[in-house]
Amino acid sequence: MLESKIPAGTLEHKWTDYKGHCKLVNPANKRKLEIIVVGTGLAGASAAASLGELGYKVKAFCFQDSPRRAHSIAAQGGINAAKNYQNDGDSTFRLFYDTVKGGDYRSREANVYRLAEVSSNIIDQCVAQGVPFAREYGGVLSNRSFGGVQVQRTFYAAGQTGQQLLIGAYQALERQVALGNVKMYTRHEMQEIVIIDGKARGIIARDLISGKLERHFGHAVLLCSGGYGNVFYLSTNAMGSNVTAAWKAHKNGALFGNPCFTQIHPTCIPVTGDHQSKLTLMSESLRNDGRIWVPKQKGDTRKASQ
Ligand SMILES: Cc1cc2nc3c(=O)[nH]c(=O)nc-3n(C[C@H](O)[C@H](O)[C@H](O)COP(=O)(O)OP(=O)(O)OC[C@H]3O[C@@H](n4cnc5c(N)ncnc54)[C@H](O)[C@@H]3O)c2cc1C
Repeated sequence: MLESKIPAGTLEHKWTDYKGHCKLVNPANKRKLEIIVVGTGLAGASAAASLGELGYKVKAFCFQDSPRRAHSIAAQGGINAAKNYQNDGDSTFRLFYDTVKGGDYRSREANVYRLAEVSSNIIDQCVAQGVPFAREYGGVLSNRSFGGVQVQRTFYAAGQTGQQLLIGAYQALERQVALGNVKMYTRHEMQEIVIIDGKARGIIARDLISGKLERHFGHAVLLCSGGYGNVFYLSTNAMGSNVTAAWKAHKNGALFGNPCFTQIHPTCIPVTGDHQSKLTLMSESLRNDGRIWVPKQKGDTRKASQ
């Protein structure tokens, strides 16, 4: 049985009550606690920077040569927040409801509610980090509608929101690296999770430059290893988005739900006819360089090389 550890109480108060009553770590003890963060995309970089800022001793890992190469850089459209700047009827509940609906009613509602609740703060945090969100001529942050919703709540930075958010998170992370609170291990790939008494207490990582295996201890291990689109036949995700880290967690006992629930972009759908005109255009470059298979004529048996 899955134990999601969602706190008790009414939906709106579950996490607020929990935060108000959970045990705190004495600031003097925080330096004694080591935390491993695997992955430094938007999730990992923000977590590592925040934990460093809080005073914990953090080790962060990524397999790229820089946290700035994480696949988060590919995100384009924008980030939703229930700020209701447009006064078009948005609210925390409406963002929560749209997100649960968008998740085919399979998401954990309490966690989605929390996400909707903190969404406004996340925008403020990103602005403080220097993310250049689009603005109206008067200077206020601009919004657009995204994902088929009826309100305008998407904050964006041209068509490169992910890249700008990642630069913001990266700067916050590098600040903590410079302060000595976070130690960054680039070109390191987590190979195994170390479990002691049923709890994740470390990782085995490979230094991708020297090829050597290393042991790293942590009082807690955060897996922020991103999406896994490339486990499927056709995907626009980077080749590194290949589920290896989540698979190690699963092999060590973590439950894994709804693996089909992964993002798909139209550009990876093979062109099948004229009615797919928009997709045809978007797929043109991929088709030309042979990365997707398009039956040119009867009997063409070429396979996708991606
Ligand atoms: C084209 C595209 C457009 C998108 N548009 C939007 C959008 O408009 N709005 C929106 O909200 N979302 C969008 N998304 C989704 C969103 O960008 C992602 O869900 C999010 O960026 C994922 O962040 P992450 O930190 O979890 O993962 P990632 O950025 O993928 O980072 C994963 C990290 O884990 C590390 N890693 C993985 N495995 C290991 C290992 N074994 N050892 C060590 N390190 C490891 C990697 O090095 C990397 O640092 C889009 C995604 C794509 C691809």
